[in-house]
Amino acid sequence: TPPDLIRNFCIIAHIDHGKSTLADRMLQITGVVDERAMRAQYLDRMDIERERGITIKSQAVRMPWDFDGQTHCLNMIDTPGHVDFTYEVSRSLAACEGAVLLVDAAQGIEAQTLANLYLAMENDLTIIPVLNKIDLPAAQPEKYAEELAGLIGCEPADCLQVSGKTGAGVEELLDQIVQQLPGPVGDPDAAPRAMIFDSVYDTYRGVVTYVRVIDGSLKPREKIVMMSTKATHELLEIGVSDPEPRPSKGLGVGEVGYLITGVKDVRQSRVGDTVTNAGKPATDALGGYRDPKPMVFSGLYPIDGSDYPLLRDALDKLKLNDAALVYEPETSVALGFGFRVGFLGMLHLEIVRERLEREFDLGLISTLPSVVYEVTLDDGTTVTVTNPSEFPEGKVSQISEPIVRATVLAPSEFIGAIMELCQSRRGSLRGMDYLSQERVEMRYTLPLAEIVFDFFDALKSKTRGYASFDYEPDGEQTADLVKVDVLLQGDRVDAFSNIVHRDKAYAYGVSMASKLKELIPRQQFEVPIQAAIGARVIARETIRAIRKDVLAKCYGGDISRKRKLLEKQKEGKKRMKMVGSVEVPQEAFIAALSQD
Ligand code: GDP
Ligand code: MG
Repeated sequence: TPPDLIRNFCIIAHIDHGKSTLADRMLQITGVVDERAMRAQYLDRMDIERERGITIKSQAVRMPWDFDGQTHCLNMIDTPGHVDFTYEVSRSLAACEGAVLLVDAAQGIEAQTLANLYLAMENDLTIIPVLNKIDLPAAQPEKYAEELAGLIGCEPADCLQVSGKTGAGVEELLDQIVQQLPGPVGDPDAAPRAMIFDSVYDTYRGVVTYVRVIDGSLKPREKIVMMSTKATHELLEIGVSDPEPRPSKGLGVGEVGYLITGVKDVRQSRVGDTVTNAGKPATDALGGYRDPKPMVFSGLYPIDGSDYPLLRDALDKLKLNDAALVYEPETSVALGFGFRVGFLGMLHLEIVRERLEREFDLGLISTLPSVVYEVTLDDGTTVTVTNPSEFPEGKVSQISEPIVRATVLAPSEFIGAIMELCQSRRGSLRGMDYLSQERVEMRYTLPLAEIVFDFFDALKSKTRGYASFDYEPDGEQTADLVKVDVLLQGDRVDAFSNIVHRDKAYAYGVSMASKLKELIPRQQFEVPIQAAIGARVIARETIRAIRKDVLAKCYGGDISRKRKLLEKQKEGKKRMKMVGSVEVPQEAFIAALSQD
């Protein structure tokens, strides 16, 4: 297809504003998916995505659209919709010339609308503002057109009105995509350069790499090079998705499609990398490539210790399809053999955990999630800590923690509640703007450690569900952080060590100690539970001793009853873990680690 007939676009929206539904409607109206094959949210392929109604992996699909007597080729690139995957979103956007900015006409602009809009603007995309769900009785398209126009600097009348559900206005939107977006520009005679914006592992075909060609062209059977790794591969197949994969004779300037090279691991075909021809390589890679960087770490342990090899195999399999997943073996006194696993964020963690449990049938315990700390010791050495129990010995001169730049959008009546919450999470207000009289945008700097856990839930409950929230990494800051240990009869329980701000150390210690007191059964002897910073105890509880030996209950002669009792105890002990001389049922660890 000649570049002037190609339009590459994506749809960006806050979650639930109707992106997937609109994408489905476009597939149907352009005739690439017929009525029969249409299932709700055709593009969201993963089960977890469909159940949660979120898009994790982006996909590209090609649609024909007749306008002005010519058939145009529209490539719709679906972007993941969550902050954990911002880098992947930015690469998908970089593959486009324009973006449909979709806003729910009953909700207005939300935090992710802004975050995505800024990313689109950074990539110089042409923005088409669209109000969706105009079929809803609660829709207020005029009001929100005003808001949207104010935000992007156009006239309210320029905002299109559509319903992804009924299809109203969608044909007009497709026409506008052709009219308003520029065709791709590139040099057809230059050495080929194609940008990878997604890479997916497929059991049958190996890794399927989605690319957008910038210059030159790619053809089947050619040898290609991945410019970041210098690895060469043969192009076994090249094609387009419309929406099922269809091999083609090649991809030229501006075209979007997929490549298959037979590699088995998405790490060999990384998002953001540049593909070129091995015989006639481009000199410069396209800008913007970045290695995925895990932000949150957690220990994953099989509940049944004999599942350890299964867990290892399962992680090895997931890794084929997830370039951001990193892990290494770890042992814990309390939990046995497991893995320290790095994630892009909490959603990524949840997705991986859920897939391990569902697809591989594993029962798992995960330890408290931890961010990445840089600890500098008095002797000048710096240690990267992703597991609080591996906090270095020696005198600490400084600890730094990752921070984020966060945006909260909410009705202005909640300003006070939001400030209170952010303050309690060590946030500092950077600025505030009114989008309209009753809606406010608040910008905060917050420590990542303070939001990974339950910030969003707290925000929702304090604002009766009206606030939305988004964030991006914003470097590091030093802070007065300390490691709190939890000890049972003087022995440290590694899984409960945590790095917290000094002001919060006491609260953490008290809550852990009292939780454990409830959860650990009485022993033959008294068991002190302590929380400590170094050698200094900050909280203490005591589990009293059992007064009588259970066997004392079985008077003399009844041997068989005694034996039964002993056997029962032995069985129970299999699920017990020893911390020093204290027996702790595994359930106690699980319960103490689960969030309330
Ligand atoms: P996404 O998170 O942006 O992909 O949003 P979805 O497409 O999954 O839609 C979120 C919810 O809004 C779903 O329950 C849809 O059925 C509903 N929805 C989407 N578009 C429309 C629309 O135009 N009108 C109405 N009434 N509901 C819609
Ligand atoms: Mg969706």
